[in-house]
Amino acid sequence: MSDANPFESLQEQVDDAGAYLDIDDDVLERLKHPERVLEVTLSVERDDGSLEQFEGFRSQFNGDRGPYKGGIRYHPNVSRDEVKALSGWMTYKCAVVDIPLGGAKGGIVVDPDELSAAELERLTRAYAAELRPLVGPDRDIPAPDVNTGQREMNWFKDTYETLERTTAPGVITGKAISSGGSEGRVEATGRSTMFAAREAFDYLDRDLTEATVAVQGYGNAGSVAARLIEELGATVVAVSDSSGGVYDPDGLDAHAVKSHKNETGTVTGYADTEELTNEELLTLDVDLLVPAALENAIDADLAEAVEADVIVETANGPLTPAADDVLTGRDVLVVPDVLANAGGVTVSYFEWVQNRQRFAWSEARVNDELESVITGAFDELVDAYKSNDLPNFRTAAYVVGIQRVADAYAEGGNWP
Ligand code: NAD
Repeated sequence: MSDANPFESLQEQVDDAGAYLDIDDDVLERLKHPERVLEVTLSVERDDGSLEQFEGFRSQFNGDRGPYKGGIRYHPNVSRDEVKALSGWMTYKCAVVDIPLGGAKGGIVVDPDELSAAELERLTRAYAAELRPLVGPDRDIPAPDVNTGQREMNWFKDTYETLERTTAPGVITGKAISSGGSEGRVEATGRSTMFAAREAFDYLDRDLTEATVAVQGYGNAGSVAARLIEELGATVVAVSDSSGGVYDPDGLDAHAVKSHKNETGTVTGYADTEELTNEELLTLDVDLLVPAALENAIDADLAEAVEADVIVETANGPLTPAADDVLTGRDVLVVPDVLANAGGVTVSYFEWVQNRQRFAWSEARVNDELESVITGAFDELVDAYKSNDLPNFRTAAYVVGIQRVADAYAEGGNWP
């Protein structure tokens, strides 16, 4: 785990790709900063009647290609720079998969485990009320991220609609189906990870059904990725969460481990497995490593010890730029977050489209459309990688994404 500043990592990634692009330095500089960041202090009543303050942020990074889009994170380590970085990654992610949205991110500095459901509802509604002037179906559309889900999205939508005296399900995505959510949204990030892993093994001419897999982070995204990759025939041998990991060289049952975590709160203690630390999991001798927890999981030192041949990034920013350099030098294929986890925002986009049409798609349609977006983007990334002789897939993704944002900016012109 590294303490690299994620916003500096983002800026370094943009610079790395900028070296291969014909974009003026001053325009590239603009693409390294958010357009605006809102910082709020939320005063929330605790159940005992006392008042407590919580710091929150919303960073709108870039709106050249469409309304700002990005999740809301509840975590004690949320910071202004983390939210800014995540909003930049959202911008380039939407551009890489070519959906007509910009990039944003929000967060509240809070440990949700320390709040009751009623307190979390008041916190979410206070945050939604503060964000109201900035958000809307044509302005900025939040979504879930770490420690938020359908429940928080439903509260956010209800607060916005109540204050605006309207119905506007497209103000936020990741809602429950009965509140205007989309089929396939909960599984979308894990599903795009699975598609990315499948395409990467295909690209390397390797058989995914023969592969062993380790997954760090067994939340919404990681557990679904593990289950869907297992369904393709691969063997998931290790998974972990913030309490530690479990390992079985003969293979775990991804679904059963998730049931165990739902019952006990953690993957540890799952029957007939060896316990292992997160660091041990990240350096296991497996074919595919899926980091699906938080940013900075792998720094340069750990990257030297990584034994996997392929890394598919489900988390945002799990490798530091220094780790990326090490892995590029060691010929480890890294499928970057901006492609591999783009299923979440892609199906969020489908949810928004359905909300605007007031028409619901079937799960099969959602999954088919998602597959074509992710596989199409993967092919474009490989084309960019080969035709520009780029050092790695991440640079290729940024070359594609930054060019699209810069084109939209150039076409619109500067204002004022
Ligand atoms: P989540 O809260 O459902 O799960 C996070 C998991 O990571 C939990 O199991 C937690 O215990 C574990 N974890 C936390 N710290 C850890 C550590 N130090 N070591 C090992 N495990 C640790 O969150 P999620 O929605 O699954 O998101 C996970 C990652 O995927 C984040 O980086 C998020 O930004 C990214 N992501 C999520 C989505 C989405 O749609 N949910 C979309 C794109 C990207």
